[in-house]
Amino acid sequence: MLELEGVNAFYDQSHILHDIGFSMEEGGRVAILGRNGAGKTTLLKSIMNAGPRVQGGIRFKSRALANASPDERARLGLAFVPEDRRVFGHLTSYENLKIAQYGASPEREKVPIDDLIGRFPMLVPLRNRPGSQMSGGQQQMLAVARGIAARPHIMLLDEPTEGLAPVIVAELAHEVAACCRDYGIGLLLAEQSIWFSRQCTERVLVIDTGRIVFSGSWQDFDENAERVQRHLAI
Ligand code: ATP
Repeated sequence: MLELEGVNAFYDQSHILHDIGFSMEEGGRVAILGRNGAGKTTLLKSIMNAGPRVQGGIRFKSRALANASPDERARLGLAFVPEDRRVFGHLTSYENLKIAQYGASPEREKVPIDDLIGRFPMLVPLRNRPGSQMSGGQQQMLAVARGIAARPHIMLLDEPTEGLAPVIVAELAHEVAACCRDYGIGLLLAEQSIWFSRQCTERVLVIDTGRIVFSGSWQDFDENAERVQRHLAI
């Protein structure tokens, strides 16, 4: 479904990602762990062509993405949920979710918006509230739901737990895992929270200074805990 081979990414003269290679099967769910500044966001943005200059091969659904724009990648079935939320303040929750479906892959059956809202208890009373009148946590929840509304083949989810209270993190983990499973959405999750990542994914990549230093199942992760934790410790 998604394959990266020898991917390098740059911001101006800064070489951020080094020779990244991995692949994801259809419906696969993979976490990317790493410290602040390790390159997690840069990796998601490279897949989306949303910022860094990228060299190397990125293939999605057996097609080389080369210079495809972010919009084209969205229509092919990739959805990027950035860390900074970017919900539309003048639109209600319902409208924010609806609008996410316009640029999405036309070959995928649409997720019914009211069903989706019903899966996020926090959003139910906010159905008709404009984004600008929501708390940061509520906007965060809406941003994640918007990624799901597009029903992508793969959702690229960037640090969704940042700034959320623990009880909301637990709720979000449950909802992300259930929606990905029930709607057939693959997940590439950049996170600092090992707990959250474990709830939502089956495989894990660890990156350190722009290089993949570990790749395996969560069982492999536990079996190599000492070595892997060195790359995650601050
Ligand atoms: P965080 O958890 O802090 O979001 P991250 O693992 O997502 O960290 P990135 O945001 O990908 O890390 O950053 C990787 C490196 O790229 C860092 O050294 C960062 O300073 C640099 N970087 C990120 N964005 C830019 C940019 N727009 N221009 C120049 N350098 C950047």
